[in-house]
Amino acid sequence: MPELPEVESVRKSLEISLEDVGLARIDSLFPGVLTFCPTLAEARLPAKFLGADRRGKMLALRFQGEQTLLVHLRMTGRLYFPNAEAPLLPHTHVLLHLDDQRTLAFCDPRRFGRLVWHVGTPFDRIPELNRLGPDALSLSSKVFFQLLKPRNRMIKPLLLDQIVLSGLGNIYVDESLFRAGIHPKQISADLSRKRIDLLWESVMEVLQKAIENGGSTIRDFVGFSGEAGNYQKHHSVYGRAGLECVKCGGTLRRTLVAQRGTTYCPHCQRMRYRRTKGKAIRGRRVETSP
Ligand SMILES: [Zn+2]
Repeated sequence: MPELPEVESVRKSLEISLEDVGLARIDSLFPGVLTFCPTLAEARLPAKFLGADRRGKMLALRFQGEQTLLVHLRMTGRLYFPNAEAPLLPHTHVLLHLDDQRTLAFCDPRRFGRLVWHVGTPFDRIPELNRLGPDALSLSSKVFFQLLKPRNRMIKPLLLDQIVLSGLGNIYVDESLFRAGIHPKQISADLSRKRIDLLWESVMEVLQKAIENGGSTIRDFVGFSGEAGNYQKHHSVYGRAGLECVKCGGTLRRTLVAQRGTTYCPHCQRMRYRRTKGKAIRGRRVETSP
């Protein structure tokens, strides 16, 4: 399932491929995948492409006439340029005909992905984007701390919650928690400032490294022009349950956290508890510096 780095790779490619191009017509081949807001009749086509933005895992292609195409790839959604001589890929649901004779297609075998064409809504007022928390890559360490510290929730589901911060999914949360030495079930309020700063650094490093490598190719995800990402070769924990921990040599364990498969090192990622008046709460282990 594409997360922030995979969507960022697609965004960068689109920014280049759609430069100076206009959108002439949209064909919907399967009902319900593409919707218009407010209606199809309001769409102002043809329209020039202005740029590609991203918030978390959501792509936003901006067009002239205050029009935005939101693309949510979800599990298996993919944008591609069909080869003129070859048939369309199976499960192609939407065709965007460009004014330079090319077509940009959206295919999605599992059909969870969604496209929404917004007309007349200023970019900063699009509800789907405004519902999302700040983009994980855009956060300062201070804002990151302010998001996490006041919440009394398990850290993994908290980082996965797109309303709190957007862009992180299962792969990059597991990788970041491992790097920062934090147990996936750790309560965020019990983390020290130092540890949260370390987690912020880990999230930034993991995301940036993944973007440099074109994202991770797990199961179905391939980049925009069909190329596979490379970051899966750098995974320390994700997909490595039962294998050796790269830090301590112990065995990585798999568990469920908020119904999500989670891989972690029980030795390197210990639970930590808040210190109150010199004592650990309920006699549990006290946070030690990283
Ligand atoms: Zn370890």
